[in-house]
Amino acid sequence: MLLKGHTALITGASRGIGAEIARRFSRQGCTVIINYIDDKDPVDDVLEDVKKSSSNSVKIRFDISKQEDVENSVNKLVEELGGIDILVNNAGILKSSKLTELKHKDLKEVLSINLEGSFNCLQAVSRYMIRKKYGKIINISSISQFTPFFNTVHYAMSKSGIKMLTRCAALELGEFNINVNTIVPGIIKTGITDDYKDENLMKKMEELIALKRIGSPEDVASAALFLASSLSDYITGTEILVDGGFTLFKNKVPY
Ligand code: NAP
Repeated sequence: MLLKGHTALITGASRGIGAEIARRFSRQGCTVIINYIDDKDPVDDVLEDVKKSSSNSVKIRFDISKQEDVENSVNKLVEELGGIDILVNNAGILKSSKLTELKHKDLKEVLSINLEGSFNCLQAVSRYMIRKKYGKIINISSISQFTPFFNTVHYAMSKSGIKMLTRCAALELGEFNINVNTIVPGIIKTGITDDYKDENLMKKMEELIALKRIGSPEDVASAALFLASSLSDYITGTEILVDGGFTLFKNKVPY
């Protein structure tokens, strides 16, 4: 059991990558806090799964982009559960628009959830981690942090900010025994990629991936487990690329 006795807050854990990280952590003895925002989503199914291995696990609804909501929720969680040892800053949204047509409202929404939201959670949780002199923080970025794709300039801006959020936080929090790292997923099969339902496009994408398959949430959860466990105790301020070798290619991506 790699995470026995630990408590992890996973943002955006009602589906996709976050839900899989929650399941994986719970099977390793971790109490999991499942954050979500939309009550219509299958958050109760995820909680039911997680509780099979970790009965103290809970769900909590808050919007990571609202700093006051985040602070109040984190304070309440720490009071009820005794602390948070692991934070996975996973929640995020992807919207597409041509750069010249991008609405300011959409630019602000993507930056405030993906970048500011990750900062809000990191700041609130790290204050408690400092007192305990222990913490593992994992930020989920994207290959968009260094590879430009068409029609997603706002998403790319948000994810490249995550890179420096990780590095600055790792530098400032290291003396308190807090590790801060980033996972950089490639193309992973979730609700986000459902937007690209075109079979032909997916086939073309697979051709560009060295390992010849689209990634799964389990692939990302494996990296998260490593970074959350003591196996990565001397690793901080860096990133793990989980892209099946997609970015090894310099070819033009077909979208
Ligand atoms: P997903 O299936 O769309 O899930 C997104 C999650 O984020 C949901 O649980 C959603 O909650 C939550 N969320 C959205 N806005 C929120 C907010 N304001 N406050 C709290 N929670 C919020 O996406 P995914 O593919 O698993 O992506 C997870 C992370 O991986 C994201 O940061 C994404 O950018 C990154 N990523 C994904 C891929 C990929 O190919 N899938 C590739 C690179 C990086 P509700 O269900 O309640 O709406």
